[in-house]
Amino acid sequence: MSSTFADLGLIPPIQRAVDKAGYVTPTTIQARAMPEALLNRDIVGASQTGTGKTAAFALPVLNNIAPGIHPQCLILEPTRELAAQVEEQMRRFAYYRPLNVVLLHGGVGYGPQTDALENNPDIVIATPGRLLDHMSRGTITLKEIRYLILDEVDRMLDMGFLPDVRRIVDKCPKDRQTLFFSATMPPAIQTLAEWALRDPLEIEVGHRQSPAETVAHAFYPVAMEQRDELLLTLLKSTDFHSLMIFTRTKKEADMLHSMLSASLKEARTAVMHSDIRQSDRTRALQGFRSGEFDVIIATDVAARGLDISGVTHVINYRVPENPEDYVHRIGRTGRAQKEGDAFTLLSADEADYAKAVERFIGRPIERRRLESFPYVYTALLEDKPLRPVRPPRRPSPDKKRRRQRQRDRAEAS
Ligand code: AMP
Repeated sequence: MSSTFADLGLIPPIQRAVDKAGYVTPTTIQARAMPEALLNRDIVGASQTGTGKTAAFALPVLNNIAPGIHPQCLILEPTRELAAQVEEQMRRFAYYRPLNVVLLHGGVGYGPQTDALENNPDIVIATPGRLLDHMSRGTITLKEIRYLILDEVDRMLDMGFLPDVRRIVDKCPKDRQTLFFSATMPPAIQTLAEWALRDPLEIEVGHRQSPAETVAHAFYPVAMEQRDELLLTLLKSTDFHSLMIFTRTKKEADMLHSMLSASLKEARTAVMHSDIRQSDRTRALQGFRSGEFDVIIATDVAARGLDISGVTHVINYRVPENPEDYVHRIGRTGRAQKEGDAFTLLSADEADYAKAVERFIGRPIERRRLESFPYVYTALLEDKPLRPVRPPRRPSPDKKRRRQRQRDRAEAS
């Protein structure tokens, strides 16, 4: 393990970029992955969000890449926003080493991407769908790829990208270095890893599914018909600076956006989901990052991997159906050892999902009541073990997975 970046023996232009970024000490995942990645070893790395995975793969690749082979490095990302974020980081670390970086994702025209591909890129960062489109148009070939990086692999597989990922990996030369990174590492990934990687070094930092230790969690039980009222009261009594609210559906996100814009006059609010034009999505995210907006309401398209510093609160308007999404959503706060709060509104029909989240993160989540809120009766407010009032209507796992995949794919590439 390396105790400083200087111990890694990076080439001067990359070390200068690290210095410029102000990085001194590698994070745990970086300290464990970078020395091996620099030696061209394949790696499967699991570490929770916000722990510096991007630099863990970016620096070794930027260090080792050879000039004159195009494109030499391919980085796959599950969503447009993540792809754009990684592109930004790659450019930052390549600042003193002129390498040509190209970003390919859906939701924008082909023209500029095709022009950029004609310009001999060294590094391509792409979402799978758009990359396959370019491959079938003949605007890119992967036969010179020496470095293949799959970031947020668990998400890519969740989103039904497995067949696309396989087609892409198949088109890359066998003689390459492959790096897999993810926040969670379910068994499906191990299987894919066995197929795509050569004798990989497995690195797992922290507990498999643990959210940041610096996040305080709370459930706010409430009757279904009082959710909006409770949310508003909660917001009015909470001192937040930068708040993300996650909804299950786009409709919910739009509805909350209208409600909060009207009722929470002191906060500036943005909304982000897949039916919103890409330029507006980018504007919403940039505005939230820069502090122009205090609140962003989003579907899970915004949940994974996005590095937004200083998020003080995450609120789940509904309990996520998939407990992994809970970890990813709340991973937006408590980043880089900062403190954060994760609040989740909980109605009776979500009791099973709540239990699943608690099982997944391996600890109970405190139930909180808002003093002075005019609660109507809900069984969840009683100090009894959680039990659903009526069994939640759940689609069969297959149907659910299919539906989620459709939703996610539409949102992603
Ligand atoms: P990531 O998990 O790659 O999204 O990184 C999370 C945040 O931590 C980003 O803002 C990085 O710029 C920052 N970061 C990553 N590695 C380091 C480091 N070694 N020292 C300081 N900040 C870091």
